[in-house]
Amino acid sequence: MDPQHMQQLEEIVGAENLILDAKRLTSGSKDCYHFSPVLKPQLDGRLADAIVKPENQAQLIALIAWAAKNRIPITPRGAGTGNYGQGVPLQGGLMINTRNLNEIVSIDKDSARVEAGVILLDIEKEAAAYGAELRCFPSTIPTSHTGGFITGGSGGVGSIEWGMLRESDNVKSARIITVEETPRVLDLERKDLAGVLHNCGLTCFVAEVTLGLAPKTPWYQYIISYDDFYSALAAGKYLAQADEIKKRLVTVFEWPVPTFFAPLYRKNVFKEDASVVFLYTDLTADELAPHIAPFGGDITFSVAPPEDARRDTQIYDYTWNHTTQWAMKNDKGFTYLQDRFDIDQVEDQIKARKALFPEMLEHVEFIRDAGKVVSGGLSLLKFSTEERLNELIKYCEGNGIRVANPHTHYLDDDTRWYGDAFLKCKADWDPHGLLNPGHLHVHEEQPR
Ligand SMILES: Cc1cc2nc3c(=O)[nH]c(=O)nc-3n(C[C@H](O)[C@H](O)[C@H](O)COP(=O)(O)OP(=O)(O)OC[C@H]3O[C@@H](n4cnc5c(N)ncnc54)[C@H](O)[C@@H]3O)c2cc1C
Repeated sequence: MDPQHMQQLEEIVGAENLILDAKRLTSGSKDCYHFSPVLKPQLDGRLADAIVKPENQAQLIALIAWAAKNRIPITPRGAGTGNYGQGVPLQGGLMINTRNLNEIVSIDKDSARVEAGVILLDIEKEAAAYGAELRCFPSTIPTSHTGGFITGGSGGVGSIEWGMLRESDNVKSARIITVEETPRVLDLERKDLAGVLHNCGLTCFVAEVTLGLAPKTPWYQYIISYDDFYSALAAGKYLAQADEIKKRLVTVFEWPVPTFFAPLYRKNVFKEDASVVFLYTDLTADELAPHIAPFGGDITFSVAPPEDARRDTQIYDYTWNHTTQWAMKNDKGFTYLQDRFDIDQVEDQIKARKALFPEMLEHVEFIRDAGKVVSGGLSLLKFSTEERLNELIKYCEGNGIRVANPHTHYLDDDTRWYGDAFLKCKADWDPHGLLNPGHLHVHEEQPR
């Protein structure tokens, strides 16, 4: 991009919303791909030529039209918490950050319609006034933008009750903008969102989203400690599958993973050498007691309503991919896998894998998928070499453990890839191939 381009951008968004200085371009172009030691060397140093922060949808449309006319690549950007490098501009160009598109358009007890840059925690707070709460959210709720979550994320806290983002009407509709000289603004219903959900910014720009909301529940949070990992796993599985127990989170950690959670560890909320279940439920401790007794668990920490509403008491801050972040704070050598076990064989699958890959430390998240409770892992491991990591992935895939590989930035390597339906949307909505180029094998000159 040349000085004339920069001048034109300034005319659209104003100097205060145009970022050109090298330091801010460097930090603003990254996402959280550094969680992968494989992606880090591949993506370090890839920069946008300019970052813009449109203040309204009219500016957003003008920017997209401008980029289409000038054939400039566009990278959409929310908070930059995506883990796979799909928000990294591989061919430079324009990064459009949604931070200023932050209007809650409408909200009631059933749904919230918001602009793409609305931070998820702001919806959670606003929804409380209507007796509602988010159905599911990532552990990055204090920073993640709604547009970034629906295009970059997959689920999180709440998915044990409501399923992943793609399920039912968790996302009810979206307004998207096509990348053409005259951009089209399309309002899409749930059934038409195949090319939008988890599109990693490759098919269209999301401008507005309607999320389904859940009735607000006063949540009790518990940390339950077990003498050995397999008792914790069995207890977590039981709690997750017990339909009569309402819950928002069921997570299992193998010892010593809890020692990585410095603020909690300092409070002495763990028993030494004990694996744990983190649970959000509406049950009081007395009501919960008969459910945990058969597995020999002790509640070693709890938070009860109304304290559960405080931001600084949330134990979900240690779950989902925050677990990996805490592990990496402890030792930079940690990385992770995103795996899906067969819930009926999860104990055996983990045992067999640990025998061959003793570097694994288990972190299991229970979620609901197509109505059925399933066991996913964000398993930790000490990275040694890429060959060893590939050997592990190959082993998993050959032994009934599905892996959504977080060590590739190619979206068509992802098990959540929508295939032809996605490519059809890409061809229709981004005919010049300007959105996030370089993240699809099928568009490479020499495909895989
Ligand atoms: C510590 C940590 C914990 C995490 N926990 C979870 C979790 O619990 N669940 C989960 O699903 N994910 C999780 N993630 C991944 C990430 O947080 C989620 O994907 C998140 O919601 C992304 O939001 P964001 O605003 O940061 O998006 P970004 O990282 O900015 O963008 C993500 C992708 O979406 C594209 N994009 C962004 N905005 C738009 C838009 N308006 N239109 C089109 N494309 C767009 C970007 O180009 C990029 O490819 C975690 C990540 C970290 C680092």
